[in-house]
Amino acid sequence: MGVLQLGDIAIQRILEHEVPVYYPSDFFAEATVEALEPYRQWLEPKALCPHTGRMVMPVQSYLVRTRCHIILIDTCCGCNKTYAEPPVWHPSGNEVWLANLKAAGVQPEEIDYVICTHLHSDHCGWNTRLVDGLWVPTFPNAKYLFTQVEYQAMEEENHQIFIDNVKPVMEAGQALLVGLDYALDDEIWLESTPGHSAGHVAVHIKSNQHHAVMCGDLIHTPLQLVEPGWSPTFEFDLAASTNTRRSFLDKYCNSDSLILTAHFPSPSIGHIIRRGNGYDFKYI
Ligand SMILES: [Zn+2]
Repeated sequence: MGVLQLGDIAIQRILEHEVPVYYPSDFFAEATVEALEPYRQWLEPKALCPHTGRMVMPVQSYLVRTRCHIILIDTCCGCNKTYAEPPVWHPSGNEVWLANLKAAGVQPEEIDYVICTHLHSDHCGWNTRLVDGLWVPTFPNAKYLFTQVEYQAMEEENHQIFIDNVKPVMEAGQALLVGLDYALDDEIWLESTPGHSAGHVAVHIKSNQHHAVMCGDLIHTPLQLVEPGWSPTFEFDLAASTNTRRSFLDKYCNSDSLILTAHFPSPSIGHIIRRGNGYDFKYI
């Protein structure tokens, strides 16, 4: 994966998977065969696999190196997690992501901050790794930033994802519970982007007037550029999800801000541009 230079900050994708995974109808109630037909050619083959009809959705982190810190935004599915949904994202013993991090020249010990946009299984998996039967933080010297709202919601739910990926970080004293607009410094800050989960945030990155934003799961697929009103049926708050996505697309349309997506097909990074009544994505 190439390094993107944003002013003084270096940004690099650390990929775990990029395979066809979900049918559009798994996500969107509106995604009937007829409704998809006008977009099929535009989406295929990169975002929609023509052979399986499934959406191609990478799972990846963003490695951000500022002058002061080495930061990871989101940590993918991880290795040997006990829940396995979807199975294609959870092959046993999968350490590809860790190998890719090391290939980028960074050891786990060197990570200063881990920022999770939210605490779903494909965004916090490598927060921990299994050592002698116990889940321990993968990044022993890092502080992990979770929004207080997201943490509390996940703690109450007490799903295996929280037990495996989040609780051990808190128990190790490495978690920082922060507000939805927390700023790490004047280069890295959070923005509340509600809807997908209880305390979902986007992560802003700015250096020398250059700006990028990692948008997490406020948008999942390029299909939502042409149908911004389509929200996944499993959203925490469906109406808020739609509002957040619409205002985000509107705000950054035809701007200089680079959008770092979680699940758009490689290269996953680009600019939002106007296309008819909707939007398109100009990949870098
Ligand atoms: Zn996701």
